[in-house]
Amino acid sequence: MNSKNSINICVLGGGFSGLYTALYLSHHTQVQLGQWKITLVERNDNFLFTPLLYELITGELQRWEIAPTYQKILAGTSINFCQHIVQKIDLDNRQVKLDNDHHLSYDYLVLGLGTQNQWADIPGLKNHALTFRNLQDLEQLQAKIHYLETLDRKHLRVAIIGGGPNGVELSCKLADRLEKRAEVLLIDRGNQILKGFSKGVRNASYRALGSRRVQLYLNTNVEEIEENLISLKHGEQNINVPVDLVIWVAGTQSRKLIEGLNCQHSHSGKLLTNSCLQLIDYTEVFALGDLAEINNKKKSIPATAQAAYQQASCAAKNIVSIIEGKPLKTFKYLHLGDMLTLGRRTAIISSYGINISGQLGGIMRRLAYIFRLPTMRHRMQVLRNFVQKIGLKIRRFFRNILLGLLGKKTSRKYLK
Ligand SMILES: Cc1cc2nc3c(=O)[nH]c(=O)nc-3n(C[C@H](O)[C@H](O)[C@H](O)COP(=O)(O)OP(=O)(O)OC[C@H]3O[C@@H](n4cnc5c(N)ncnc54)[C@H](O)[C@@H]3O)c2cc1C
Repeated sequence: MNSKNSINICVLGGGFSGLYTALYLSHHTQVQLGQWKITLVERNDNFLFTPLLYELITGELQRWEIAPTYQKILAGTSINFCQHIVQKIDLDNRQVKLDNDHHLSYDYLVLGLGTQNQWADIPGLKNHALTFRNLQDLEQLQAKIHYLETLDRKHLRVAIIGGGPNGVELSCKLADRLEKRAEVLLIDRGNQILKGFSKGVRNASYRALGSRRVQLYLNTNVEEIEENLISLKHGEQNINVPVDLVIWVAGTQSRKLIEGLNCQHSHSGKLLTNSCLQLIDYTEVFALGDLAEINNKKKSIPATAQAAYQQASCAAKNIVSIIEGKPLKTFKYLHLGDMLTLGRRTAIISSYGINISGQLGGIMRRLAYIFRLPTMRHRMQVLRNFVQKIGLKIRRFFRNILLGLLGKKTSRKYLK
């Protein structure tokens, strides 16, 4: 598969690190002239902008907005899209084996395959809990919600395990989606939610959870899950709670494929890189995003889309520099802030000590994410849709005020 005379850059994984690296590289003249070939290998046919996945639960966004197909994103670029599962990576012979038994040879490799769910050893967990990481998970969750909504039951109960950002955002969105019909429990074994987040973000989150009557079970271990029951342990106290839906969002781990690579790994199984994002013993290989960790870094870089996105730009520049014989750049992570959705149309954004929450936070978060979507064309389509919706709401708002005023005048006339 290796074409002679051209440089082959192979990008594995079309998520935040892989897709954006490929897109950055695609602007380079040598790629446009066909002298450097970029192949993007991804198992799915849709990219997923994970930070906005929650908005599909409440119908605030549509699937095409946050999960455009790669065909659409890559149209007009010279990136060769290869929809396959990566089965094996041979770092010594610079070969990637795909599920169709084809082998791709590379001169430069970008590893952006992300991580997977980490299941704890809790009886019944894998059989009875859903997860929330991708579109398949969302479909299962939507199907379960539809089923629960058809039941002739006044009271439903949902348990979410994991008090990180995923658990908090999911709790708020589900509470809004199911409204008064459901009680949401958020369970974490630690003594607080959102470990590592600023006080402002945590306080806004506690308020949002409180106003939605989400029951917080902190310092609580999940002991067992049965079809309609969750067993908890809080101190010495055993609590059995009947539940209709359990969602597990309490951790991720490295993929087997990555753990099995013949190179240096961190204690948690991540790939160790140098500060230019190259594998320590294979400098033609760049490892980015959730699957990688920079060696000897005093402060670890968070496993977030924000970090993966910044690494993509650095890796693309460094690949160009290696090929052109220029010095490489050290990756410097810049923490721009945190943004969490806290229910329908509302969010907290926290940046450089400034916190903005509520509906304004919701609008600002949405706009910030729209400008991070891949390709200008897609951004503009989503932005147009958003502006139209807001315009409609503003018109409705003023119309209601006007109708209210007219209504008052008319009723006053009748009273006279
Ligand atoms: C619901 C949710 C909400 C989130 N919200 C935020 C947020 O608000 N802010 C934030 O900064 N971060 C957020 N994150 C975290 C963020 O999504 C990740 O940190 C980011 O996606 C990591 O990028 P990545 O490129 O390392 O991996 P990913 O984006 O996960 O990409 C990995 C890609 O590799 C593909 N792949 C995996 N294995 C194979 C294989 N064997 N063969 C072929 N393809 C394969 C996958 O299909 C996927 O497309 C959220 C995550 C989730 C799940």
